Amino acid sequence: MVKQDSTYEKITPKSNYSDWYNDVLSAAGILDFSYDLKGMFVWLPYGFKLMDSLIKKWDELFEKNGIQKSYFPLLVPLSYCQINESWWDKFKEEGYKVIAGADDKVQGALRPTGEPAIYPMYSKWIRSKNDLPIKMYETVSSFRYETKQTRPLIRDREITNWFEIHTVHATKGEAENELKNHVKIITYLYEEMLALPAFMVNKPSWDCFPGSVGAYEFYSLMPDGKVMENGSANNLGQAYAKKFDIKYKDDKGVDNYCWQLCTGNGARFLAAAISEFGDEKGLILPPKIAPIQLMIIPIVFKGKEKIIFDEIDKIKEELLKQNIRFEVDAREISPGRKYYDSEVKGIPLRMEVGPRDIENKEYPLTIRYGNEKLKIKSHELKNINNIINDIHSKMLKASNMRLHESIKFVNSSKDLISAIESKNIAKVYWCGNQECYDKLIALGEGYEGFGTSTDSKGTGKCLNCSKPSHEELFIAKSY
Ligand SMILES: [Zn+2]
Repeated sequence: MVKQDSTYEKITPKSNYSDWYNDVLSAAGILDFSYDLKGMFVWLPYGFKLMDSLIKKWDELFEKNGIQKSYFPLLVPLSYCQINESWWDKFKEEGYKVIAGADDKVQGALRPTGEPAIYPMYSKWIRSKNDLPIKMYETVSSFRYETKQTRPLIRDREITNWFEIHTVHATKGEAENELKNHVKIITYLYEEMLALPAFMVNKPSWDCFPGSVGAYEFYSLMPDGKVMENGSANNLGQAYAKKFDIKYKDDKGVDNYCWQLCTGNGARFLAAAISEFGDEKGLILPPKIAPIQLMIIPIVFKGKEKIIFDEIDKIKEELLKQNIRFEVDAREISPGRKYYDSEVKGIPLRMEVGPRDIENKEYPLTIRYGNEKLKIKSHELKNINNIINDIHSKMLKASNMRLHESIKFVNSSKDLISAIESKNIAKVYWCGNQECYDKLIALGEGYEGFGTSTDSKGTGKCLNCSKPSHEELFIAKSY
């Protein structure tokens, strides 16, 4: 049954993050988990509107950067999957194979990632330098038979609303420049849309996407102190080009392998924002992506309906001028119930319009983030966008601060353990050697060295072997 507005749902305290997270997604009408396949769920209309407002942003950004929307088939021939062994080694057990026909013949695999469907086509399309660069993306579902515990929007068997950008370049330099561009795009989505810090690390080479030569990964620090991988920009070098035979002839007729990138992320963006800002009353959405930014609640008295709705029409006109996404909750239910719905759905602003407010020419306005209550005069309605920008800045500042305060620079094993066990991220000097890495993460259960700092400056001693080193490794528990 789709969540009806007639029920108040109990939300577990956020200190129990895992239950809180599920409660909030359900009470706010984001997802329904009752679908009978593990790791798969239904996006409810409000949830999909939210996802869609983020998708529209990335569509716009990619288009502006010359990255074009495309679509490749969901079903991938097994022969394509097997072209890159290192990729296939990783995904063959997680892959869903599709059978059809009277003899139940395997027709192919459901896309676990885009490469094996896309790259054989790139190989057919590219002949000369004039065919380059190719810059394309798709927003699709990917399927992986996860054996670990699944968690909605974080670890699913159907990974929905996932964008992947796949670009091909003639030179290494061009590819590296484009990679910087991808990093900028992801950073923009984090900071300008989601009000979250763009926390980027370099991946240790053995931990990169199968077949790639280097990667920037983005991480989010979740309320339970674990870090979640949340977007990556992979430099594939020429590794995939050599496997998939993606090459062009230069002016002298010599074959050159191309340079490739792939960059992706999806609904985990939302999982991070929901987890960062939500509270016991429900969601608190970053206003730039909230599908409804302002909810107008008429406080209706008998005989005053016309005055109230005429006034609301005027307010609507002003909001339309500013492109504010708003709704009027005109249902015939109590205002208290409407406040609850607006809160649980995380709508950034709520404005009440009653007869007395109209007389006074000012309206009570409640800001969901921080539960701040103020009055807005009717001639100040033209400033709603400023209020939205202000909320966004405050949210970004707070989430940035939480992340930075959680990163603890440590130089002993004891401090490392104590930092991680108190839900922080430990940062240590590390010589870059895998043996040292293995010893460091063996200090506690579930520890992972998820990447190195992209702007390390100093030099110190590797926490394990004491060799001088300038790399700073982040260690935390992870999903
Ligand atoms: Zn070392």
